[in-house]
Amino acid sequence: MSKLDYVIEDLVTANRILAHEGIVDSFGHVSVRHPDNPQRFLLSRARAPARIEHADIMEFDLEGNEIDAKGRKPYLERFIHGSIFEARPDVQSVVHNHSPSVIPFGITSHTLKPLLHMGASIGHEVPVWDSHDHFGDTDLLVSSVEMGRDLAKFLGPGRTALMRGHGCVTLGNTIRHAVFIAIYLEVNAKLQMQAMGMGDIKFLTPGEVDKIIGRTASFTIDRAWENWCRRADRPMQAAQ
Ligand code: MN
Repeated sequence: MSKLDYVIEDLVTANRILAHEGIVDSFGHVSVRHPDNPQRFLLSRARAPARIEHADIMEFDLEGNEIDAKGRKPYLERFIHGSIFEARPDVQSVVHNHSPSVIPFGITSHTLKPLLHMGASIGHEVPVWDSHDHFGDTDLLVSSVEMGRDLAKFLGPGRTALMRGHGCVTLGNTIRHAVFIAIYLEVNAKLQMQAMGMGDIKFLTPGEVDKIIGRTASFTIDRAWENWCRRADRPMQAAQ
């Protein structure tokens, strides 16, 4: 199997897992940098993630232009992915979703921060990008290269950001890593809302977060990935 086929297979599986785990519904998407050309990325045509097949995966340049659309309609918000890949050579995969528990942290003064061991992968805290700051009243969708680049600039070296009144992005060094962070971002957010009702929260310390991130290796992520594959009724590919 070619590297490209391997990556597309994992990308299809990532869509199915994110749908099955409730991170995406009919909307939201996951991308990967092209394994043979860092100036390109792969993303499904506009379709609900639970329905995505190999033939839906399209190729784009970093400005979001389709390479060979073959009549397929792309996601409007593909600029999120291209702009992050353009700004961040270290990033290989991006998830954009609207999972329900993250939304309250984008619209209130409460900062989303890791409070459980598995939540450390979200980073020290999750900043909120507000499209209104630079673009005023919009439909909130990241519908241009300018908006995508503004979000990518806001992220800086970070691995997660919320988007006010809309959703979030998670960045990974593999597809499985970006999916792992997206799933635990939702878990952490849900627990944080529950804990807020019980009183003051003792969050992980910055040093704890760094130590946990330091030991979260690909075998940790693959353990979760295998389980998520089974739940989503997808075969797991051996690590390549
Ligand atoms: Mn969106």
